[in-house]
Amino acid sequence: MAAFLPQDNNEKSLWVDTAIAPPCCEILRDSLQTDVLVIGAGFTGLSSALHLAEQGVSVVLLEAASIGYGGSGRNAGLVNAGLWKNPEEVSKQLGVEAAGRLNQALRDSPALVFDLVRRFAMQCEAKACGTVHMAHSKAGGSYLEDRCRQLQDLGAGVELIDGARSRAVSGSAEYRYGGILDPNAGTIQPLGYVRELARAACSQGVSLFQQSALKAIKRRDDRWLATTEFGQVSADQVIIATNAYADANSLDVRESTVPVYIFQCATPPLPGHLAASIIPQREGLWDTDTLLTSSRIDADGRLVMSYPGHLPAGQRALRQAWATRKRNRLFPELRGIPWEYYWSGRVGVTTGKILRVQLLAPGLYAPAGFNGRGIGTGSVMGKHLAQTIVSGDRGDFPFPIEALYPEKWRRSRAAYYDYGTLALQFFDKRW
Ligand SMILES: Cc1cc2nc3c(=O)[nH]c(=O)nc-3n(C[C@H](O)[C@H](O)[C@H](O)COP(=O)(O)OP(=O)(O)OC[C@H]3O[C@@H](n4cnc5c(N)ncnc54)[C@H](O)[C@@H]3O)c2cc1C
Repeated sequence: MAAFLPQDNNEKSLWVDTAIAPPCCEILRDSLQTDVLVIGAGFTGLSSALHLAEQGVSVVLLEAASIGYGGSGRNAGLVNAGLWKNPEEVSKQLGVEAAGRLNQALRDSPALVFDLVRRFAMQCEAKACGTVHMAHSKAGGSYLEDRCRQLQDLGAGVELIDGARSRAVSGSAEYRYGGILDPNAGTIQPLGYVRELARAACSQGVSLFQQSALKAIKRRDDRWLATTEFGQVSADQVIIATNAYADANSLDVRESTVPVYIFQCATPPLPGHLAASIIPQREGLWDTDTLLTSSRIDADGRLVMSYPGHLPAGQRALRQAWATRKRNRLFPELRGIPWEYYWSGRVGVTTGKILRVQLLAPGLYAPAGFNGRGIGTGSVMGKHLAQTIVSGDRGDFPFPIEALYPEKWRRSRAAYYDYGTLALQFFDKRW
């Protein structure tokens, strides 16, 4: 089988080099019957499949490329709780009751991830070492004070830290305006986690096929009949978990989010004294800057940072130069150390920045729009979708369910984000 790795042309992903090997999966060349068909082998599809199979439901999962090919194998690996959006805004948008259910489900999402890691003895560098939302300026500090109060009102176990502590946590004099520490969150090797989810799902009886893209799906004899290039699957219910990597055959799911790119760079393993002074307790960090940056250290002592933007040949030099300037300003002791890895991926953004589950037809679910926060979200989404499918009761389902909601002007908005971040990086003289 040709390899479909979760990195774009001429990119070199750290996660591809350091993840455990994936479980062996074939191409679908058969005609199968199942209770539930899942499309897409990312966190959402695999968590759905695993939780369904654990409850005795038969599941076939079809992946177009390889396990973790989408956002799940490319992300920064910060296992965060909740949404980007502040809880009070979520309440305004969804109403107090629906927002309460959603916020609570996502508040507990890191616990589910670390519990799955323990239960299935997953090898994926998982560490419940906390994450910190860092203020990059005084205004960022005031924003975080308000956000922290709102999170605490929800019962989240987060804590506001002051400037001295944010400097000590990060090992950077630039992060001197405080932050929000979530001690229950942490970091993970994302491609390792998604491959381990696949292994766990297969161990519970899920039939998983790679390079077996859904080509078409239609109703036949009160069931869904899905076809791939060489096979077909008949199922009672279907979860289309293709999210921001939905292709043209994913029943218009692609139209439901605006694709926005993020790129990452990683250094070689840092020499001992630098590895000890930068993020010494290994929390995952991200900041309040418009050009949001995250920083973490991997299991081998590499600094891994993420930034807004894409890495096509024409943009790469400019984006990387800015990334290096920002890194060197945050951690001046790294001047002269090259990047060893760089890769990118896309996230699915929605108007209002809240995820949704689209009910495309009875028994056809399509969760999408995680807006860049999907490790905990996809894991929890899968668990709740499984419960809802097994019980047949959507009463307690914590996520908004809607008909397909195509985003307007998605290509223009994607271009606006892409060229907007490029221009900001070009003109940004702060770093
Ligand atoms: C660079 C980057 C950094 C990020 N950082 C973080 C972070 O630190 N923390 C965090 O929580 N989240 C982060 N995210 C977001 C997170 O990675 C995503 O929200 C999450 O991976 C979405 O998972 P998913 O399973 O829903 O979709 P995906 O992982 O995208 O999986 C969808 C799968 O569907 C498959 N597919 C598409 N079409 C078909 C078809 N027709 N037939 C069969 N299969 C198909 C694709 O090949 C893909 O494998 C980041 C994302 C990126 C890109």
